[in-house]
Amino acid sequence: MPRVGFIGLGNMGSGMAANLVKAGHEVRAFDLSEDALVRAEQNGCTRAASAVEAVEDAEAVVTMLPAGKHVREVYETSILGTAPSSAILMDCSTIDVATAREVIGKAEAADYRMADAPVSGGIAAAEAGTLTFMVGGNDKAFAAARPFLEQMGKTVIHAGGPGAGQAAKICNNMLLGASMAETCETFVLAQKLGLDPQTFFDIAAKASGQCWSMTTYCPLPGVGPVTPADRDYEGGFAAALMLKDLKLAMEAAESVNAYTPMGAEAETLYARFAERGGAGKDFSAIIKMIDDSWTAR
Ligand code: NAD
Repeated sequence: MPRVGFIGLGNMGSGMAANLVKAGHEVRAFDLSEDALVRAEQNGCTRAASAVEAVEDAEAVVTMLPAGKHVREVYETSILGTAPSSAILMDCSTIDVATAREVIGKAEAADYRMADAPVSGGIAAAEAGTLTFMVGGNDKAFAAARPFLEQMGKTVIHAGGPGAGQAAKICNNMLLGASMAETCETFVLAQKLGLDPQTFFDIAAKASGQCWSMTTYCPLPGVGPVTPADRDYEGGFAAALMLKDLKLAMEAAESVNAYTPMGAEAETLYARFAERGGAGKDFSAIIKMIDDSWTAR
């Protein structure tokens, strides 16, 4: 089985690397955090002393880092020119489209195949190997990346050329952020108009207002399927990460002169929610702030 260099073994990377080990790869892991490295070793990875050591002789490289600046730095200082040029490079972090295109451009100039392959699905999906990968890159990069991504996820979709994976990810999450905020204000209004929330759920789930944020991820406890709302909004997808993705979407919109008023409003709401202490809660917890601000008017 091909040897994999894996850099960034935090909340998401840890489970993803463990699944590559389970699939039979030797995974050489590097992270700046000692705790992350200890956990990676417990999951069967081999500890590398540096990012350079993780990728030299690797046949595939996976990075799962916080943001664009980390990705640029790790590729420029430790991967490009160090990993064999035959290695397939996959960045699974969620980063801005411009940096993704820039780094892939540098990789291709150095004769590498590289894909941006951000994920949908949280920590539980990373551990269970059920992530969805949205992949940007040329056909050769996609073909080379696909077998590795399939070992870490259940769905792998080729979104288009370099950066297309990141574009798909932030467009999806802008839609999700705006639709969740809208679902929350709708339930607040419905209750203030005297509607029973479960009855309204049953109606809207069969009517034209239905959407994933309501039917699959209802922000009210006890309504619809079991969701983070039923666990006091713990676990799930943190509001801080939703805010990060909305900021990336707004940056991208500005770069191409796209008018995205609903996405901008969602960004404002999530920024306010994070300021008020909601950053670590599931993103559907924003219903509490919407309910309060409505009451305060
Ligand atoms: P995390 O902060 O838990 O993990 C990132 C890891 O990268 C950390 O362990 C950190 O020490 C390491 N790191 C940072 N700079 C490094 C460097 N120069 N060299 C080596 N290691 C370095 O973050 P996460 O939750 O695992 O998220 C990773 C990426 O996945 C982010 O881009 C995030 O937006 C995206 N994402 C997260 C989720 C989620 O639910 N957590 C879901 C989808 C996408």
